[in-house]
Amino acid sequence: MAANTLVWLRNDLRVRDNPALSAALKRGERVVAVYVAETDKRLRARGAASRWWLHHSLTPIAADLAAMGVRLETVSGSILDAVAEHGPQAVYWNRRYAPAEREVDAQIKATLRETGVEAESFAGNALVEPFDIATKTGTPYAVYTPFWNALRERDIAAPLQAPHRHGEPVAPAPADTAYRTPAWARKFEQYWKPGEAAARDRLADFLDRIEAYPEGRDYPARDATSTLSPYLAHGEISARQAWHAARALAEREPGRAGGVQKFLMELAWRDFNIHQLYHREDIATVPMQAKFRHVKWRRSDSDLQAWQRGETGIAIVDAGMKELWETGFMQNRVRMLTASLLAKNLLIDWRLGEQWFWDCLVDADSASNPGNWQWVAGCGNDAAPYFRIFNPDTQAGKFDPGGDYVRRWAPEPREPIVDLKTSRERALAVLKAAS
Ligand SMILES: Cc1cc2nc3c(=O)[nH]c(=O)nc-3n(C[C@H](O)[C@H](O)[C@H](O)COP(=O)(O)OP(=O)(O)OC[C@H]3O[C@@H](n4cnc5c(N)ncnc54)[C@H](O)[C@@H]3O)c2cc1C
Repeated sequence: MAANTLVWLRNDLRVRDNPALSAALKRGERVVAVYVAETDKRLRARGAASRWWLHHSLTPIAADLAAMGVRLETVSGSILDAVAEHGPQAVYWNRRYAPAEREVDAQIKATLRETGVEAESFAGNALVEPFDIATKTGTPYAVYTPFWNALRERDIAAPLQAPHRHGEPVAPAPADTAYRTPAWARKFEQYWKPGEAAARDRLADFLDRIEAYPEGRDYPARDATSTLSPYLAHGEISARQAWHAARALAEREPGRAGGVQKFLMELAWRDFNIHQLYHREDIATVPMQAKFRHVKWRRSDSDLQAWQRGETGIAIVDAGMKELWETGFMQNRVRMLTASLLAKNLLIDWRLGEQWFWDCLVDADSASNPGNWQWVAGCGNDAAPYFRIFNPDTQAGKFDPGGDYVRRWAPEPREPIVDLKTSRERALAVLKAAS
């Protein structure tokens, strides 16, 4: 079927609160959705775990779209290939915010407009678009707290409802993503159910137990968090939907307002990272604070590999790295501890750790992964100061007091590859020299 309106889906694999999809359905008679496995070398290639998720997410969205009369096609290359095939009058998409993504999108928009095709972009998956919030002097925020104070005062756009049926249901196309999912990722099926309906269920389930969140979120054995991050990363739920659902709950049940407030503050960290991604040089490779650009990192392939495999002998770190390998996920505090051991005690370049997480996390996110790595390494805006070095054993005593988490993922004790005290002193000396 030739389309007169194309919706180009990217990290927005949902039919509700999807501004580009809603606008396309308002506009066009023949709407086709397209997912492109992009080959433009400027774009950061997805990691393996994220490809697994994507593969399993395209099937449910293809079915949801088909039920409303919209066919989803997957192509490899560029959206311009789909445009050449369909010859549409209009192409709509939701914005993405990494510098390279914006460059690619701007070129595509210009090319389409030059050839007389209407090209429109809509709000992406942030609470507030990163260019739409600034300090009083008009500069980007570099510190989280004032960013949060400004964001909480904003009217966050209310989510759009699911669009009405567009035509007779069509048969969903098989979701061939042109992506291979690696064999090790197949086990993720035991832990995850990608897709928009699963995202909604998870949010509802989390809101039911949100009062345990503020305290419980730091304890990896407690499963007290929402685990919405992979759904947010692929846009199966929007941050706006999560925000408004939580706010509505706090209004209905003021007793849960404390849990809701903490959750909103974490969603705001996600937006803060998007804000950094938008305004800075490539945050996956360039330290936000210039003085950290010349740190003398150690090179040790064997230490890096021990860290990746969960074989450092530091129990909580090994547990985290094994959980990551097994499930594509790791709880936030354990992410901080594993990252800190690599970038500080082992003094290995944080970018190598960021890349490993990028490849292994089902929620790998181009803003939050580098943003948090820079936070832990001490080189980000508003980062933990370089001299704050977690002691993973003390942290384990505090946040995994019964040892349940370690027993679950790394039950066999190992000889530590690094002495926590001397490596801490080494890190302090090297990072002080750079700062
Ligand atoms: C080294 C490191 C790497 C990280 N990499 C990623 C990543 O690639 N993708 C990712 O989504 N998160 C990343 N995080 C942030 C955080 O660990 C995860 O968002 C969180 O653990 C996901 O679990 P949850 O959905 O249950 O979180 P909840 O506690 O339920 O929080 C709700 C949502 O708030 C957002 N959020 C929470 N904490 C943070 C944070 N510190 N920074 C940004 N957003 C946050 C997430 O979207 C999360 O889904 C990283 C953190 C560290 C320390």
